[in-house]
Amino acid sequence: MIGLIFTLDYELYGDGSGNLKDLVLEPADILLEKFAEHSAPLVIFVEAAEFELIDKYKTDADIDLIQRQIGMAYKSGHEIGLHIHPQWYRATRNNERWIVDRSEYNLCRLADERIREIVKRAISYLRNILGDPNYAPVSFRAGNWLFQPTQPAARILYECGIRIDSSIFKGGQFKEYAVDYRRLPKNRYYWRFEEDVVKENAAGKMLEIPIYSRMVPFWQMITKKRLQFEKGKESGPIHNDKWRNIKKFLRLRYPKKLDFCRMTERELKEMIEEILKEDRKSASGYKPIVAIGHTKDLIDVGSVEFLLKYLFDNRIPVNTFRQIYNRLT
Ligand SMILES: [Zn+2]
Repeated sequence: MIGLIFTLDYELYGDGSGNLKDLVLEPADILLEKFAEHSAPLVIFVEAAEFELIDKYKTDADIDLIQRQIGMAYKSGHEIGLHIHPQWYRATRNNERWIVDRSEYNLCRLADERIREIVKRAISYLRNILGDPNYAPVSFRAGNWLFQPTQPAARILYECGIRIDSSIFKGGQFKEYAVDYRRLPKNRYYWRFEEDVVKENAAGKMLEIPIYSRMVPFWQMITKKRLQFEKGKESGPIHNDKWRNIKKFLRLRYPKKLDFCRMTERELKEMIEEILKEDRKSASGYKPIVAIGHTKDLIDVGSVEFLLKYLFDNRIPVNTFRQIYNRLT
């Protein structure tokens, strides 16, 4: 039996550009309304660092509304997860623009003490805006999906109450950061880990529930909707290179994440049907399927509505990480 977990990365662009109203506040409002209509909860990965800085420097008039929206979502029963883009904490202002600190881009590459300081600071900011001194996030998503080297970051997160990570996705690879998710435990929907998030360790303290992804030929990644984000990046080499290279290009496979903001209705339906087909092969046990979306990517709420209705019609439950944690341990 499968169940969906909708995770929403709630943030501006990683370089500090954009405004809160268009990229966070309004799309989140639309999503919160749709999820409420279907009585479905979200896991909202609130990027704590940027909102703290924006509040401190008062660089965006909508910061108060953002903090209120997070508080309302929390009170309505959505889960607030911990999401950190550490490059924000030492960001500076220049000509009305943010200059983020690229040397702190990957939390996992920082020193123990710096990681601890950042994680505690983010949690304390969230406690503050939620008005709940006992708030303790149970789930974590690393900024930029970078969760290697996994230690000491995972140990520090555990100390701070985190039990579930959902930073990684099958097929992910970020060469410049030496991060590689191409080989994950086979046929597993979640697993325990210790030293390295991609290696199952039954004695590990933390649980990994990856973002659901499938490897697909590159052409499947090209939809009109997706091209609005990719700006034609993937079509470049076809025009420039020779036929031999085109054939090589056609064989390339990409990880396609289950993304409820970027995928079309048809893509969403096809992916869920594939998941259901696999589920029928080994129908025992609960299988969490993590979908991802970004407030800044929401263009067509129709496909989100379609997915929620499809899940409801097919009696597929939607839960938060907190709700399913005990079932998996
Ligand atoms: Zn993010």
